[in-house]
Amino acid sequence: MIDVTLESVSKRFARGGDTAAVDDVDITIAAGEFFTLLGPSGCGKTTTLRMVAGFYFPTSGRIRFGTEDVTRRPPNKRDTGMVFQNYALFPHMSVAQNVAYGLKIRKVGRVEARRRVEEALGQVHLAGYGDRRIDELSGGQQQRVALARALVIRPRTLLLDEPLSNLDAKLREETRVEIRRIQREAGTTSIYVTHDQAEAMAMSDRIAVMQSGRVQQIGAPQEIYHRPATSFVARFIGRSNVLTLPVVAADAQSVTVGLPAGGEIAAPAPADHGLRQGDTASVSVRPEHIGLTSATEAGALPGRVTEVEFTGMATNLVVDVAGEPVQVAAIDVPAGIAAGDQVGLRLNRERMWVVRP
Ligand code: ATP
Repeated sequence: MIDVTLESVSKRFARGGDTAAVDDVDITIAAGEFFTLLGPSGCGKTTTLRMVAGFYFPTSGRIRFGTEDVTRRPPNKRDTGMVFQNYALFPHMSVAQNVAYGLKIRKVGRVEARRRVEEALGQVHLAGYGDRRIDELSGGQQQRVALARALVIRPRTLLLDEPLSNLDAKLREETRVEIRRIQREAGTTSIYVTHDQAEAMAMSDRIAVMQSGRVQQIGAPQEIYHRPATSFVARFIGRSNVLTLPVVAADAQSVTVGLPAGGEIAAPAPADHGLRQGDTASVSVRPEHIGLTSATEAGALPGRVTEVEFTGMATNLVVDVAGEPVQVAAIDVPAGIAAGDQVGLRLNRERMWVVRP
């Protein structure tokens, strides 16, 4: 098991104009960790993964596997296992031949190769499928063959680029559990690329959220969800309201902001928030952390319902508060609530978080 380090890594493409596809990225991935690069299309996650794999060399910066500098080493000398969105299996070969491919290139003996192929197929729960043809397998099974093919060479790092995108929703959920189980058992340091925040949250030890080539935040799923660093992260991970409110007072742990209808609230804040009285703060509060009460309740934020959507588990509402639309997700709502109703909102102070704009 080895750790993977990216030090001030940037990538500019000749045809990329002035903007860097990956811009000064610093990431340290611990040995055995399942680490995800998450962000919208074009944010630079695939380019970052390709630099770790060796398909692209960085324009500047260093990449290390353990203490070894692999920055300009070709892909076949890096000992990485790759899994892609489109499986990239050989359709004319059997399952076992596909899995054995990397071993053949590495000139592993026939008996040893057969043993390791069996072992890898067992790992992905496809024991006994060795003689099947690739086109006789479902999409989920094909992706597990691809995973077995990557793991059979016992790579130092496992790199996965949107491996679940071609699967339907249900299979995607099942296969993500499988991938995580297999990775845990193998203990291989893994880097996973996805634009799907729910997938990233469910699978990862830690996530780097990227936007426009830059890392916005690195943290465990809970940390990124409850303490997003920026308004982008707050909105990209789940849903969030980012309220812009005047700062009344501030200390190291909290920022007290004035509310539209009068009154104030002390929102928890990161120590480096740098805000002072008279500034404007961006405060994230998630829809499920806002309670619904009557418009007349003391201390509640008065607003007018503009949208109501029943989803089964919760009712999603949009409430206009002094001209700002606020999203609310409530488990219990008064029967017959409808657009136009006056309501009161109670913000759960503990769950608010001051973010960078
Ligand atoms: P997606 O989820 O759509 O794959 P991504 O986050 O993986 O997106 P990248 O594929 O890393 O994003 O692309 C980052 C930026 O670099 C984009 O603006 C893209 O157009 C640009 N880019 C990627 N590859 C090349 C290339 N070979 N030549 C020029 N520009 C490129």
